[in-house]
Amino acid sequence: MIRPGGTVRELLNQIPGQNATVHGWVKTRRDSKGIHFLHISDGSCFSDLQVVVEEGIVPEEQMRSITTGSSVRVDGELVESPAAGQKVEMKAHSIHLYGTADPVSYPLQKKGHTMEFLREIAHLRPRSNTFGSVFRVRNALAHAIHTFFQNEGFLYVHTPILTASDCEGAGAMFGVTTLDLMNLPREKQSGKIDYSSDFFAKPAFLTVSGQLEAEIFAMAFTNVYTFGPTFRAENSNTPRHLAEFWMIEPEIAFADLKDDMELAERFLKFVINEVMNRCEDDIAFFDKRIDNTVLSTLNNVVSSDFEHVTYTEAVNILEKSDKDWEFPVKWGSDLQSEHERYLTEDVFKKPVIVTDYPKEIKAFYMRANDDGKTVRAMDVLAPRIGEIIGGSQREERLDVLKTRLAEQGLEESAYWWYLDLRRFGTVPHAGFGLGFERLMLYLTGMKNIRDVIPFPRTPGSADF
Ligand code: ATP
Ligand code: MN
Repeated sequence: MIRPGGTVRELLNQIPGQNATVHGWVKTRRDSKGIHFLHISDGSCFSDLQVVVEEGIVPEEQMRSITTGSSVRVDGELVESPAAGQKVEMKAHSIHLYGTADPVSYPLQKKGHTMEFLREIAHLRPRSNTFGSVFRVRNALAHAIHTFFQNEGFLYVHTPILTASDCEGAGAMFGVTTLDLMNLPREKQSGKIDYSSDFFAKPAFLTVSGQLEAEIFAMAFTNVYTFGPTFRAENSNTPRHLAEFWMIEPEIAFADLKDDMELAERFLKFVINEVMNRCEDDIAFFDKRIDNTVLSTLNNVVSSDFEHVTYTEAVNILEKSDKDWEFPVKWGSDLQSEHERYLTEDVFKKPVIVTDYPKEIKAFYMRANDDGKTVRAMDVLAPRIGEIIGGSQREERLDVLKTRLAEQGLEESAYWWYLDLRRFGTVPHAGFGLGFERLMLYLTGMKNIRDVIPFPRTPGSADF
């Protein structure tokens, strides 16, 4: 314990009849017949601690300043609560006021603020009910992810955030430079920017994925995972895309696509289960107030065996449906969100793993199938969200990998170390990438990805 008294979470589980101290922020205040009722929150759990201040206990002068948003310490006695839904409340003996919050200008007064408004006050929104729940779930989810992999003996590897190679081409990259933008050095002949005097002596970027480096570590530690920030300078203003987001990327050696799919299913079930247990009140809140399908879909994922279907089978199903698609379905083009949701929500009514995509729409490192047309890729589709995980078995054969690089117009020299892994002790291996915030959307039922990360970065917006 870092300060005396205990958290609201701890106090709510105490037996009545003892003195205690609570520190927190006043969420609401109600006055009735000279008695004041304060709801105190310290973020430790969904519930507030009700503090009852009886007449004459605290000078009225001081009581006037204890309004919504102010910060207090209350010393008092825990007593049995007559209110429904809570065991104990606190009968105040004295209150120390740390900081006031002017009721006229404190922006978090009323209930029912829009998400857009709350985004503009990202420095205060963590104190609201919704964002309290969001960030407790986010914390529990991050912990569950580490717990899962650590329990299974995976090594956590920190892949670089600054990178000088656009190895994957997974998305548009943010450039990083210390060159003087007003006075860029130019190569004499070509007039191109001369990066030799830049910090890394070549163009550098923020990473879009840690996968290729994770593969290096899988070729030494067998089972590894990354969990870190990734950046994409895609100018897509959607409720599903951020410029800065967190990605989980396991990589497993001596493993094929089947092992990869089993891992993905086991992983999703474990972390969802963990969060449902640890954040029961928060998830119940989301189900009640944000999206009434949250609990049923989460239970559905935890309890059902994921469906498996090849891309080709999926395209057949989609072509036979009488849906009016915004994007036409054709073998060879990527599945769009509407197709993915139809498969998982209408056809199979549970999570679906689609495998063996056409090689033209997937990355060069995915293992080629013998049909010469498809690769050992897998996407996990979940109801309400569509794609939540993208993964593949990796091409471990040197000659095939070189052919694939050439087919996609990529320079072998840029991938020298990646090719070396196939020269020296290559093994079948596989992995996947999961967007942390996409999983957050799933767990919370929140509609916009900007509302499940503390400080969203999107085109035109990097406040706080
Ligand atoms: P999408 O088609 O949704 O843009 P993608 O095909 O670009 O996804 P990958 O390159 O496979 O995605 O990235 C792995 C995972 O990272 C995705 O499955 C998704 O969960 C997540 N992800 C990708 N781009 C973003 C983004 N801009 N913001 C948040 N999460 C993202
Ligand atoms: Mn994308």
